[in-house]
Amino acid sequence: MSGRVLKFGGTSVGTPERIRHVAQLIGKIKEHVDDVVVVVSAMGETTDQLLDLARTISPLGSDALMAMLLSTGEQVSSALLAMALESIGLESVAMTGWQAGIMAQGPQQRSTIKAIYPERIQLALASSRIVVVTGFQGINQEGEIVTLGRGGSDTSAVALAAALGYSCDIYTDVDAICTIDPRLAEHPKPLHHLTYEETLEMASLGASVIDPRSIELASQYNVPVWVGSSLHPSLGTFIHSESVEERSSITNVSVLGQVAYIRVVHRCRDQQMIAKLFSGLAKCGINVDIISQNDDSSISFTITRQEIARVKHLLQELDCQDYSIDDTVQKVSVIGDAMRHQSGIASQVFEVLVEQDIEFYQISTSEISISYLIHEQYTSRFIQALQSAFNL
Ligand code: ASP
Ligand code: MG
Repeated sequence: MSGRVLKFGGTSVGTPERIRHVAQLIGKIKEHVDDVVVVVSAMGETTDQLLDLARTISPLGSDALMAMLLSTGEQVSSALLAMALESIGLESVAMTGWQAGIMAQGPQQRSTIKAIYPERIQLALASSRIVVVTGFQGINQEGEIVTLGRGGSDTSAVALAAALGYSCDIYTDVDAICTIDPRLAEHPKPLHHLTYEETLEMASLGASVIDPRSIELASQYNVPVWVGSSLHPSLGTFIHSESVEERSSITNVSVLGQVAYIRVVHRCRDQQMIAKLFSGLAKCGINVDIISQNDDSSISFTITRQEIARVKHLLQELDCQDYSIDDTVQKVSVIGDAMRHQSGIASQVFEVLVEQDIEFYQISTSEISISYLIHEQYTSRFIQALQSAFNL
């Protein structure tokens, strides 16, 4: 018996025509795969529209009610897709997160999946039906419908694949994951194979093609993942544990926008003040990124621009007046498994920075990536220069 989870994003099910096209594609896959489970996002911009709608009623809707509202988007698309399947003679059933046994925990709008009880899905599969499950949602211990955070349908799909022991195909609006986001560069190269680690690094460092939480899960449960488009399903990117292509250089350049760079001046190496500042940031749940001690009397770090107001408030509370906030920076990262054994990549990037006369504020590294914080006005020039220097 073979089984597969297919996930279709908002664009793939954005119109009735596209839903019919997706149904045809599922029909073709069903010809050679025994068990097919489909996970859908809400149609097109539905989730954003629901958010806008909520704001017109109350700018501060409770988490529970927001989750209740936002989860309806996926209910619409799953029912419509199941209808489209039935209309071409494919027996199917649509299920919400709770019907599919997806148990979740945590804040109602950013819940995580705790367990999956897939008996109901398995029963439907046993009678040869295609099961269409709403992405992005589950049910918590209190019986509330909860959502998994924006972009959470990828995670629903991979989690179901893990629970059922299937592989997971993620259909999106790009033919394959590329060396650079096609919106940021001309003619980037498609990547046919990636490791979980590279993909996770890319997704966390700004590549928006897949939700990082889904790759974390895939890696944990060894779920083979494919990412591609329903228009050219013969292309696409396979994501798995081992690298299958020997690469001598970097695999990808990713960009994280919406970054703010904060520099706080303190008395000569005032460790206590620094500890207070970071514990305050942690208490507020503010995610701090690159941290560096610049000289004896200032420390800098980055946050997302949405957090600026909260950080300002915190600095005020700590009676810290001497600070600066720059909200015109972006984080550009070069990523690749080859970095583990290949030296000289950082030096090549430094040459590019010098050649292009681009100043950087901060650098951070991981085993397989190097990130540069630069002024956003240089981002596209930097990307272009990296593309030609590394032949991406
Ligand atoms: N519809 C939700 C969103 O737009 C979940 C998803 O698309 O994965 O964030
Ligand atoms: Mg969406």
